Amino acid sequence: MPDLSSTRADFPILHQQVNGKPLVYLDNGATSQKPRAVIDALVRYYERDNSNVHRGLHALSMRATEAYEGARARVAKFIHAADPAEIIFTRGTTESINLVAHRWAEAHLKPGDVILATEMEHHSNLVPWQQAAKTAGATLKFVPVIGADGEGGLDLTALDTLLTPAVKLFAFTHISNTLGTLNDAADLCRRARAVGAVTVIDAAQSIGHAPIDVRAIGCDFLAFSGHKMCGPTGIGVLYGRRALLDKLAPDETGGGMVVTVTYEAANWKPSPERHEAGTPNVADAIALGTACDYIDSVGREAIAAHDHHLAQVAMEKLSAIPGIRILGPRLGQPRAGLVSFALPEVHAHDIVTFADEDGLALRGGHHCNQPLMRKLGLTSTTRASFYLYNTEEEIDVLVTSLRRIQKFFAG
Ligand code: PMP
Repeated sequence: MPDLSSTRADFPILHQQVNGKPLVYLDNGATSQKPRAVIDALVRYYERDNSNVHRGLHALSMRATEAYEGARARVAKFIHAADPAEIIFTRGTTESINLVAHRWAEAHLKPGDVILATEMEHHSNLVPWQQAAKTAGATLKFVPVIGADGEGGLDLTALDTLLTPAVKLFAFTHISNTLGTLNDAADLCRRARAVGAVTVIDAAQSIGHAPIDVRAIGCDFLAFSGHKMCGPTGIGVLYGRRALLDKLAPDETGGGMVVTVTYEAANWKPSPERHEAGTPNVADAIALGTACDYIDSVGREAIAAHDHHLAQVAMEKLSAIPGIRILGPRLGQPRAGLVSFALPEVHAHDIVTFADEDGLALRGGHHCNQPLMRKLGLTSTTRASFYLYNTEEEIDVLVTSLRRIQKFFAG
């Protein structure tokens, strides 16, 4: 296991008491905490460089523009994109996916076409495709998840049957936020490409946790959020291959994205400006660049190994709790840094509320995976999700708390 113990010192928020107990933050699947370097980048920008970008010729505007475009280049490098123009800054994963679902779908889908997704998609990578299919008269189909607890991952045999030339787009998650499944993105893209389908990857859960190389993966689009990778809220990315982005119609129009405007009409700049109408989220984009630096200073291989290790420790210790039902890959199988489980007789909301008394931050509910929950015969689970600053000792706090809760409810 890599020694990431010193990284805790980089995160000011972790050093506090909640309900009289040291905070144990295990809700990283929802959002990650921010290192001092990212917080400082935001403060520095507002204290020193704040100005509007692209339109000014004064010193502050030039500094802000340089830092904003520098952040775009940094993010491009972070995911090995060929060109910074392939990075569109958005509000987050949801907005990124919606852009493709609106504009790519409207230009390319016709009645009878198929959009393929999987049964493990977050609502943000499901509902936009439902809407796109409805608008185009296309059909939305799903790659099944195998096993009563979703332990078998995606059914690849079914995928190959589903992947006919009618499939124009395949949207799938890199890591399931509920099951902890790691999908082999390169393999899925290769299969989709064989039938000419465009691929959209939801990288919300993987972006800050594992190395990502969009060219090696061979995807067409990839979406993620800054807040899940040590960056600020309100900033995210749509990566797209340049040829696709330059042809994609903008979702919003206005200042900054036009070349020539008359009273009657306007035309658009190429990517990325055409997809960033109005004043962009300059400060958060710059701090996202700092988050990339921070994560790479630790190392994504090391983070992935740490996540996997903590997930295995959690699986081992949680499995010993009587009656517990754990979703996703079985003990010893590859798994992302999260474990989602159900205790008989105790609702997830009660678990999270009681665990809060022990200083624990967990998540309980359907995790924006209602159809998957329904398929597995559940309404909710409790999820513990780990990141680079979590420790084995924190898993012990979780297990002790769960045993206390179980005893309380057994009466
Ligand atoms: N997809 C997955 C797999 C997620 O976990 C999340 C966040 N919970 C999203 C999409 C949506 O991300 P955001 O809310 O930042 O747009």
